Amino acid sequence: MKLYSQKDVDRKALKGARIAILGYGSQGRAHALNLKDTGFDVVVGVRRGGAGWKQARREGLEVAEPGQAVQGADLVAVLIPDPVQKELYQGIRKGLKSGATLLFAHGFNIHFGQIKPAKDLDVVLIAPKGPGDLVRRQYQEGRGVPCLLAVAQDATGKAHARALAYAHGIGGTRGGVIETTFAEETETDLFGEQAVLCGGATELVVKGFETLVEAGYQPEVAYYECLHELKLIVDLLHEGGLAKMHQFISETAKYGDLTRGPRIINERVKNEMRKVLKEVRSGRFARQWIRENAQGRPNYQKLLAEDIDRQIERVGAGLRARMPWLQQKRPGAPAAATARAVAGRAMAKRAAAKRPAAKRAAAKPAASKPLKKKPLKRSRPESAAAVRDAA
Ligand code: NAP
Ligand code: MG
Repeated sequence: MKLYSQKDVDRKALKGARIAILGYGSQGRAHALNLKDTGFDVVVGVRRGGAGWKQARREGLEVAEPGQAVQGADLVAVLIPDPVQKELYQGIRKGLKSGATLLFAHGFNIHFGQIKPAKDLDVVLIAPKGPGDLVRRQYQEGRGVPCLLAVAQDATGKAHARALAYAHGIGGTRGGVIETTFAEETETDLFGEQAVLCGGATELVVKGFETLVEAGYQPEVAYYECLHELKLIVDLLHEGGLAKMHQFISETAKYGDLTRGPRIINERVKNEMRKVLKEVRSGRFARQWIRENAQGRPNYQKLLAEDIDRQIERVGAGLRARMPWLQQKRPGAPAAATARAVAGRAMAKRAAAKRPAAKRAAAKPAASKPLKKKPLKRSRPESAAAVRDAA
């Protein structure tokens, strides 16, 4: 592993550089403010009159529309949601200065060929391993969120040095910058969110909840056990790995973990994980997601609606209302999470308007509605290159 810290930074690499940050959401806001505080000349490129435009102005930053912001910029960071980056790029590419650096915080659009930058640009990746609000907060506290760094195209011979100087500007070298490739960052990121972080963890919680409820236990008790208490375990893992978790749980919990855990997440599950990884690496997932976006996301919207229309959500809304400390606003929540939170709030409101959600859920039969996912059609082996060609 190649790990860079503050001493490895070439301070001249971005000296006096003008940096355009496109997007003022989770990452965009954090990068723009941190870079400005580090001393860079920063302009934020956002849609006129949008939420980002207003907020960036309020927070003392220079703002311009994306097409204007990139004019004369030495480095352009594309920090808007991945599915809309291709379209934005079409609109700004003619304004990019020859020899400028194009920077991403996730490799999807470059790795899968959605954006094909001109040959005279440096193309790099600086991906903080945390959400924007953490990137900002840690920077303000004199620390930094670790980042991944990759170079896809080195037109000037300075791509790597510039990327590292940018990571330094947002605080990343304080936490350490690990060298990777666009392929590794993109594929591990997609796999992680699908199999473990978002897809895997939520399905584990829901299936555990359903198992208890179907066996006749109270949904509220099942909710606390399978969802609420997960935080304690995740915090321990996050802070000190398996060893710290073992220190803080009972002997009985440990014995159950060691003897039953591998029966739940077993070889069959691992084989399925391998298949999911294969779909990521072959580009099959990317093709599906690109097609879904091109068609206006019909399947995605349906699945999202089904995902939050579950008993665990109704029970949870009622119980969380009694724990006001959970309702603290999370700054810079990404759009998808916001949509989910809004749907959750609407659901909680509906539940409160009738009778207590908890009672309502208890009165309902323990419905377990497995998602009916359409099996994917078998297709020829694909690759990132095949996705690029098809796009
Ligand atoms: P985000 O918060 O969803 O971005 C919001 C910003 O994008 C807003 O300024 C919004 O404009 C702008 N925007 C949205 N749609 C647009 C469109 N069609 N045209 C122009 N601007 C548009 O994005 P993010 O979560 O920071 O992600 C940015 C990049 O960082 C992505 O590549 C992502 O994969 C990567 N990343 C994210 C995280 C994370 O924790 N969020 C972590 C690591 C890497 P308005 O202000 O006008 O609404
Ligand atoms: Mg899920």
